[in-house]
Amino acid sequence: MQELPSSVDPARFALCADAIAEAARELASLGWTPATSSNFSMRVNGELAAITISGRDKGRLGREDIMLVDMAGHAVGTRARPSAETGLHTQAYRRLPQAQVVLHTHSRTQSVASRLFAREGSVRLEGWELQKAITGYTTHESVLEIPVFPNTQHMPELVERIDAWLDAGKPLHAYLIDGHGIYTWGADMAEARRHLEALEFLLGCELDLRRLSA
Ligand SMILES: [Zn+2]
Repeated sequence: MQELPSSVDPARFALCADAIAEAARELASLGWTPATSSNFSMRVNGELAAITISGRDKGRLGREDIMLVDMAGHAVGTRARPSAETGLHTQAYRRLPQAQVVLHTHSRTQSVASRLFAREGSVRLEGWELQKAITGYTTHESVLEIPVFPNTQHMPELVERIDAWLDAGKPLHAYLIDGHGIYTWGADMAEARRHLEALEFLLGCELDLRRLSA
């Protein structure tokens, strides 16, 4: 049972939880969240985020499957356990003020692309019209670089690598984790979904190109 701290308006929590559950169900129906994987979150206010509870089937989420965490990733007002990857969500909220929603999925395309491009350390998207679906990109002539970080079960290691990328001043709209999946975000659910869908499409195109030009 999620108890709400006095700083959280119940209507705001309900809105966040419903938006997360709905997005999760829709992404699950696309096959992007196999075997209870993937996790989704939304900023509730300056200090807290709503996030999926660990281990739930993302195709059947409701409001009761969403919990609160603080920006250090600790559960707030519940005994439920947040996703093992909560630290990556709260890092995005700490480091990227524009991020209001963080989406993480494990589609087949994302997983295969992460393995293939891990050798190069990133995917360089160039020449695709759909790059314009990423906020801030206005032409196919730009380069959209999506880093691929090594996978680990030790989240602080991953957090450090992402911090290092950001500290180097490199733009970051999404990242892949090798053999694992993708993280992306947006200023609201619609923008985060658009980023995720565009990246899924673009990664699929890159995989097809490699296959066809082999
Ligand atoms: Zn994951």
